[in-house]
Amino acid sequence: MKILIIGGDAAGMSAASQIRRRERDWDITVLEQGDFTSYSACGIPYFFAGDVAAFEDLVVVTPEEFIEKRKILVKMRHRATRIDPEKKLVEALGPQGETLSFEYDRLMIATGASPILPPWPGMELTGVTALRNLEDTQVVQKLLQRKPKKCVVVGGGYIGLEMVEAFHRLGLKVTLLEKLSGLMGNAEPLVTDGAMAAMKAQGIEVHLETTVQGFSGKEGQLTTVETDQGSFSADLALISLGVKPNAELAKAAAITIGDTGAIMVDRQQRTSDPCIFAAGDCAETHHLVLDRNAYIPLALNANRAGRIAGANISGAEETFPGTLGSAVTKVFDFRIARTGLDAPTLKKEKMPYEEVTIKSSDRADYMKGSGPMWVKIFYHPKGHQILGAWVVGEDDSAGKRCDIIATAISAKLTLGQLADLDLCYAPPFSGVWDPVLQAANKARFSWMSV
Ligand SMILES: Cc1cc2nc3c(=O)[nH]c(=O)nc-3n(C[C@H](O)[C@H](O)[C@H](O)COP(=O)(O)OP(=O)(O)OC[C@H]3O[C@@H](n4cnc5c(N)ncnc54)[C@H](O)[C@@H]3O)c2cc1C
Repeated sequence: MKILIIGGDAAGMSAASQIRRRERDWDITVLEQGDFTSYSACGIPYFFAGDVAAFEDLVVVTPEEFIEKRKILVKMRHRATRIDPEKKLVEALGPQGETLSFEYDRLMIATGASPILPPWPGMELTGVTALRNLEDTQVVQKLLQRKPKKCVVVGGGYIGLEMVEAFHRLGLKVTLLEKLSGLMGNAEPLVTDGAMAAMKAQGIEVHLETTVQGFSGKEGQLTTVETDQGSFSADLALISLGVKPNAELAKAAAITIGDTGAIMVDRQQRTSDPCIFAAGDCAETHHLVLDRNAYIPLALNANRAGRIAGANISGAEETFPGTLGSAVTKVFDFRIARTGLDAPTLKKEKMPYEEVTIKSSDRADYMKGSGPMWVKIFYHPKGHQILGAWVVGEDDSAGKRCDIIATAISAKLTLGQLADLDLCYAPPFSGVWDPVLQAANKARFSWMSV
């Protein structure tokens, strides 16, 4: 059996490794256009911030290790250019620009996503960059060797926030520009105000409702970011406006693309062609609360869906359990965690909901170092099904507390059942009523008293 995989990172290599675990003798070939396999893009902001010892540490498994230890033939600097589903072959450009073709019995598309880069004037200037992979990381490293002083980060999503902190820790004067009125995808004041306060305390300039219109420079080097609210001087600009799925190859091969623009897959990760599978940032994924496909480009989804695709390519019938879009990030002292649906999405989906918010402490109030923690839970007004949550505060436990709520949603617990959970307690870790329990109980009292 000939297995061909396009894309050598999270989804692609999870599938490849899963297939090898199940099938010792199958031919597994991976085409990767770049220089790296199985790297941690998620670690890149922390590498720049100085929290990762060496660039090489961001590579989890090298191409040589895949070839030698797992007998997976990884072809680096091979870019797939066309899929022919009738003949079951893929054309690719090799490292010297040569045209090659690869046959397959089963194909896996794991081409990931690309940064959204609007056609703004001045995008070609030195100093204007995006950040998606380790090649981009090397570009930013080179730009930093030019000793820039002022940096503008365009876009206040999680990568933008993480890079604000990284650039600040590198000694740059940092300005964050966001066209919406909230950060993290127009999140509510609970999230936006906390993140703004944490950044302002470190001297970061943050401008909301500010739309970038282009870049201007001198002798090919960026000097100014132009916006509808005026100009900002900068010698480095990072564009972090989110990503779009790399679905062009699939589309050109008449594989069905979903409404989200990503490759449509079923819960076995099969595309509209039964011999072709897809997973990761190039593909849609089943959302547990929406109970339909959505586009959620996150690392664990890519790894999980890649693993399921690999199992099913090997003949299993495994089903992707579903995603909640659970995510956590930090900017300076402020931690932001989310799971399920947020208020803007619930409104857009016209889903009835109520919400409860509490402000509590991340440990017993009387403990030294205790800090504030906020929990906000969205739930269905009648069945009290939990729909989503934010947990924010100064302590790393924000993420793990949000995970409790993610677990409750996955287990289809009602808010009342969440309130009844027996969670750990000792003063260094929480009050006797954990903030998650406090939020669930507050909601329960509100509906018990009507
Ligand atoms: C800076 C940064 C921080 C992040 N932090 C987090 C985080 O904290 N938590 C989280 O959950 N997620 C995070 N993510 C997102 C996470 O990295 C992605 O969800 C994950 O990498 C997706 O894996 P993938 O395999 O689907 O796609 P990718 O990682 O994009 O890999 C796709 C691979 O396919 C290759 N490829 C594409 N087209 C072709 C072609 N035609 N031929 C051959 N090869 C091709 C690409 O070169 C690439 O190596 C972060 C992303 C970035 C950029």
